[in-house]
Amino acid sequence: MSNSLTIALSKGRILDDTLPLLKLAGIEPVEDLNKSRKLIFGTTDPDVRLLIVRATDVPTYVEQGAADLGVAGKDVLMEYGSQGLYEPLDLRIANCKLMTAGPVNTPEPKGRLRVATKFVNVARRYYAAQGRQVELIKLYGSMELAPLVGLADKIIDVVDTGNTLRANGLEPQELIAEISSRLIVNKASMKLKHARIQALINLLAEAVERRAS
Ligand code: AMP
Repeated sequence: MSNSLTIALSKGRILDDTLPLLKLAGIEPVEDLNKSRKLIFGTTDPDVRLLIVRATDVPTYVEQGAADLGVAGKDVLMEYGSQGLYEPLDLRIANCKLMTAGPVNTPEPKGRLRVATKFVNVARRYYAAQGRQVELIKLYGSMELAPLVGLADKIIDVVDTGNTLRANGLEPQELIAEISSRLIVNKASMKLKHARIQALINLLAEAVERRAS
């Protein structure tokens, strides 16, 4: 079995915060990922390549074995369902909170709550655990708009500073989960390339500690 590793990452916060950790683990892309439209990049380690995919697609690439490893937000993993993946390391990057949010100073509606979100699986579990009947409205972006135009009473979204909510007359309400990005590993790769992957996990764990201290 080859010792080559393919790592799936998404552009933006996760890429920007993962590259310094990979560098500490001895892996650097050979060209600037942010200046290229390519989707596969070689690295200074000839056995390691990086794939650039949509954040919500990272678990799919890793579970299916198209990538051995990936970095995905806990929000994405909670929504995807991570039982088909290993999640060996909290990288403690891209920290935020998954929260409900609604219009400022607005009482809950009497009837069934309408909640707009892209995290419909998370939302279903969250309200089911409370025994609440809600109507879920699946959106793909700009969730903050939904309560403003009467599409929903509340939203569920990731919140960092809360500025986006406040700019739209919304306030964060219930905390569903603390979010950070996790290293995920394909289950078969973990067995077949165990020494190689465990060594990388150890290096990344050290990098996370060094970055935190
Ligand atoms: P905020 O700082 O709360 O205004 O966040 C700005 C926007 O960035 C929000 O609409 C969130 O959807 C998004 N966001 C914040 N933190 C993260 C994160 N760690 N991962 C993905 N999206 C995020």
